[in-house]
Amino acid sequence: MTELDLAVRNARILDGTGAEPFAGDLEVAGGRIVRVGRAGTQRAAVELDAGGAVLAPGFVDVHTHDDGAVLRHPDLAFKISQGCTSLVVGNCGFSAAPAVPGERDPTSLIGVTAAWTDLDGYAAAVGAAAPACNTMALVGHNTVRRLVLGLERREPSAAELERMRAEVRSAMQQGACGLSTGLIYEPGRYSATDEIIALATEAAAAGGLYTTHLRNEGDRLLEAVDEALTIGRAAGLPVQISHHKSAGRANWGKVGASLERIDRANAEGLDVMADVYPYTAGSGPMAQYFNAERPDPSLAEVIRFAACPARRDLEGRMCTDVAQEWGVSPAEVIRRVLHEPRGTETICIQFIIDEADVITNLRHPLMMVGSDGIPDLRGRPHPRLFGTFPRVLGHYVRDLGVLGLAEAVRRMTSLSCDRFGLVDRGRLVEGAWADLVLFDPATVIDRATYDDPHQEAAGVGMVAVNGVVTYRDGRHLPARAGRFLRRGRP
Ligand SMILES: [Zn+2]
Repeated sequence: MTELDLAVRNARILDGTGAEPFAGDLEVAGGRIVRVGRAGTQRAAVELDAGGAVLAPGFVDVHTHDDGAVLRHPDLAFKISQGCTSLVVGNCGFSAAPAVPGERDPTSLIGVTAAWTDLDGYAAAVGAAAPACNTMALVGHNTVRRLVLGLERREPSAAELERMRAEVRSAMQQGACGLSTGLIYEPGRYSATDEIIALATEAAAAGGLYTTHLRNEGDRLLEAVDEALTIGRAAGLPVQISHHKSAGRANWGKVGASLERIDRANAEGLDVMADVYPYTAGSGPMAQYFNAERPDPSLAEVIRFAACPARRDLEGRMCTDVAQEWGVSPAEVIRRVLHEPRGTETICIQFIIDEADVITNLRHPLMMVGSDGIPDLRGRPHPRLFGTFPRVLGHYVRDLGVLGLAEAVRRMTSLSCDRFGLVDRGRLVEGAWADLVLFDPATVIDRATYDDPHQEAAGVGMVAVNGVVTYRDGRHLPARAGRFLRRGRP
């Protein structure tokens, strides 16, 4: 008889399928779930009494920029404490692989200097770092394009396009789950739709998906959604709209029309889904949002400094407050910061989203949850880094009743795993990997705020990754049992 490594007794089991919870036990051996429901006769090495708390599959953060964090902060405390057990990296067109060893792009969100050339090399580095969470990677278009074309504002030649295709093909063969784009960013914004279709065709051939930070999330949101749908149809692969939103006050409410387009495309046979973070501010590299010579004055009004290596004193401050102190316009503050040494490494927070749109997004049955957190821990990061999943469960499920608990968990677990090719995860069934979270639905809540963003959530009692208890009653354990995952492989 196999030894039981872990047993969680007396739990309300939410199995991740959307079914309502049932009372029972869950037993683990060799990293996998061996029994769900009524207890067996054996005692486990680790016995936990859930006290009636909810036991669910560990959450999958489908939209992260943790490519560097899995190496630099392998305890991943900001993710584990939310109940996240798997991370999808390589989003918004920026991926750790392919890469040139020794190079680091400060505006790429990767946050680490490459010591590898391809996905296999990155996977080996992740394996050596032994992060606490499982890691699944996308291959990023910005990264591939920069490797082949630098920051040139032109179409690739036939030979260059073939090199780009070969990079995507290779990453897919090595287990990437799909191609990501960030068409708002440099150099992705210089590419035409046909270039993306050509690269997405490589992802399609390997059974992957296409995820996209749209070319425009504001005035031209609907046109940008149409471009994503065109790419999905032409390349023949599922489409995932990343951090779906309508940005800027003039565009608030447009997510409704955008979701209608997504629904219509699904009715016509295309496979389109989306993800969202539960906040009304975005965040990203400031140098990517502003023309350094003529910063957009209206965007400058809603900017807050998150990480600013050039001027640490600005971290946590609104640009408008700094402008008042300096006696200049907010746009001038941005211009000056971007011209400082290391100014282009600034990460900013933009208050550009309407709360009603966040709710509209969360109501949609094809909407997953992705934090989009940027793991620059030195400054004052956007609170989504520490708070996303508990915020959905506490604020939007319990307090506002925007969606049901079982449905919310389904969209953080089984839907996400099916979408991104995480095999044998996302459901509490016998044989699945034992990625687990135990939480109290009556108290679970985010505590990270814009002023105090490093606060871990409340109400998460236990997290296990591949059957190893990694977090318990507010304490992080030294276990680092995450694995590098490859699309579709068990
Ligand atoms: Zn993005």
